[in-house]
Amino acid sequence: MGDQSVIPVKLCAYCGIEPAVESEHVIARCIIPPPRPTMITVPACAACNDKKKHDDEHLRDMLAIDIENEGHPTTSGEMKEKVIRAIGRKQSDFVKQARGKSIYEVRRTVSGISLGYASRAYTDPERINAIFAWIVRGLLFEETGDRLPVDCIFKAGKVNLGHHADAIADLQGRGGKDGPSIPPSFESFYLRAKSDPTVSHWILRFFNVHVWVTTNFEKYA
Ligand SMILES: [Zn+2]
Repeated sequence: MGDQSVIPVKLCAYCGIEPAVESEHVIARCIIPPPRPTMITVPACAACNDKKKHDDEHLRDMLAIDIENEGHPTTSGEMKEKVIRAIGRKQSDFVKQARGKSIYEVRRTVSGISLGYASRAYTDPERINAIFAWIVRGLLFEETGDRLPVDCIFKAGKVNLGHHADAIADLQGRGGKDGPSIPPSFESFYLRAKSDPTVSHWILRFFNVHVWVTTNFEKYA
């Protein structure tokens, strides 16, 4: 008696603190319309799942409205109709906060990795960084089982139109790897610094839109 084996508790892929209670879609179902291919899921706690949900809807609205996704068969169909309905009901917080604001910050080369292709073209940098922090944390966990530290710094922006292929080729040429993908809608590529794996560079393709995300670059640059 007393030989009760310890059942390992899976911790949340995002916070790494709370026990996971559900399987969470790293790229939300609202972004990938049916018929859905195999989705990317990670264990998550209820609190993280709930917080991420609002950011998922924000991202869906951003992607559906983005000019680069104009005419894309997926984003211009059901997804765009949902966003238009949300705007009609004044429920799109992306559209609410976007009015009258824009940011354009060209990124310079940092730590040898060129970000010359990318700019900060989204409206609320802190919100955008938070949205892509969830996604990069989830993708990294799915890919490697690693979690980025709680105080990790995330910065996200867009890869400029006309530089998508160059930016990916640049990352791959420096030893970057293919990350999780949901073909044909989503792909990811990433490169982690050898000296400190919390420093990384990601390119995420959602339909025609390419987003770059850096982690902890400013801290270590
Ligand atoms: Zn959590």
